[in-house]
Amino acid sequence: MGEITQHDLPAAFRRRFEAEPSLMVRAPGRVNLIGEHTDYNQGFVLPLAINRAVWIAARARADGQVALISENFGNRSAFSLASIQQATGAEAWSNYVRGAAHALQAQGHRLCGMDALVWGDVPVGSGLSSSAALLVASTLAFSALAELDLSPLDIALRAQQAEVEFVGVNVGVMDQMISALGQAGHALLIDCHSLAHRPVPVPNGVAVVIADSMKRRGLVDSKYNERRAECEEGARRLGVQSLRDVTIAALEAKRASLPELIWRRCRHVVGENARVLACVEALRAGRLDEVGALLVQSHESLRDDYEVSCRELDVMVEAALRQEGIIGARMTGAGFGGCTVNLVREERAGRFVDGLREAYRAQTGLTPSIYVCRATDGAQAINLSLSGQPT
Ligand code: ADP
Ligand code: MG
Repeated sequence: MGEITQHDLPAAFRRRFEAEPSLMVRAPGRVNLIGEHTDYNQGFVLPLAINRAVWIAARARADGQVALISENFGNRSAFSLASIQQATGAEAWSNYVRGAAHALQAQGHRLCGMDALVWGDVPVGSGLSSSAALLVASTLAFSALAELDLSPLDIALRAQQAEVEFVGVNVGVMDQMISALGQAGHALLIDCHSLAHRPVPVPNGVAVVIADSMKRRGLVDSKYNERRAECEEGARRLGVQSLRDVTIAALEAKRASLPELIWRRCRHVVGENARVLACVEALRAGRLDEVGALLVQSHESLRDDYEVSCRELDVMVEAALRQEGIIGARMTGAGFGGCTVNLVREERAGRFVDGLREAYRAQTGLTPSIYVCRATDGAQAINLSLSGQPT
């Protein structure tokens, strides 16, 4: 994607803006290892930040204007901090940057304008959260140029607010949190109720392989809302605030009082929360067989109880489980298409990718995009000049 890399970004900035950038920020995309459809049930998730990111090269402007270029899209957009409007059409991507500024200003922060060049290698619209990467990068860029003293969690919360309130997508906080708070070599256990979080090591010698089914998630919005409503009904019938507060034993005891469909939806969520916590323990202890089994159980539960998988995702997981070096595989993201996540023994990763691509292509006629990733640090700002004064 794109002709440049982050290493060329300052040079590209100079060409575009005929000035030196004073700041570079990087915010990674992510994949969720386990804990699917648990976030809106106040449960646990275990994402990791991947070595694909959105980068912004920027310099401050004293006139309160923001001039943006997406190097990927070859598109410009400009707005004034004094009155931030929604962009439409080809400039709609700039709403993520506009929203970031809007959310910070709504909190009472004083921002300064900027010239900014955006470039990313997170595939767009594949479910690896290029949107959260752009939001976190934008929030961090504004924060760094205005010398705001925001914690990574503050950055994540403003970025989420921007996506919900300005872009208008009702997302949870997982994507922004992992992009802001990731740690190299680690996944991040997030409690979506308290927002408490702690790093969990990915054992040495394990590669994280993401396979994009190339099936686009058509049904996802309506089905997502339907699942949320079903979970709310389950919680209501069980007399709890959220399914987070239900144990497997308590759910079993109430089985007769729940419609069969609601029971299965609840069993996924309650079981998935337990699987996340078991996976954390297994990762810490290096028990890879157990980690793999939990990923597979998660997939089966999403397929059979929660019914958010699809043929392509099932084929991809089954093909992965037949390859040498596989530890575990499952669908990741909301479902109905998008990606699978695979843990693979590193020394086998090359052959795994080839074998998986061929097997999936033979069964579906689709050529998947497959990314061998590792867990990286969350968002960073790099000061390029010690005299980056607004001009
Ligand atoms: P996902 O988050 O799964 O990648 P979304 O549809 O949520 O998909 O977000 C993708 C949108 O994010 C793009 O349509 C675009 O508006 C914006 N975006 C992501 N990366 C870039 C980029 N490098 N330059 C400009 N906009 C980007
Ligand atoms: Mg997104």
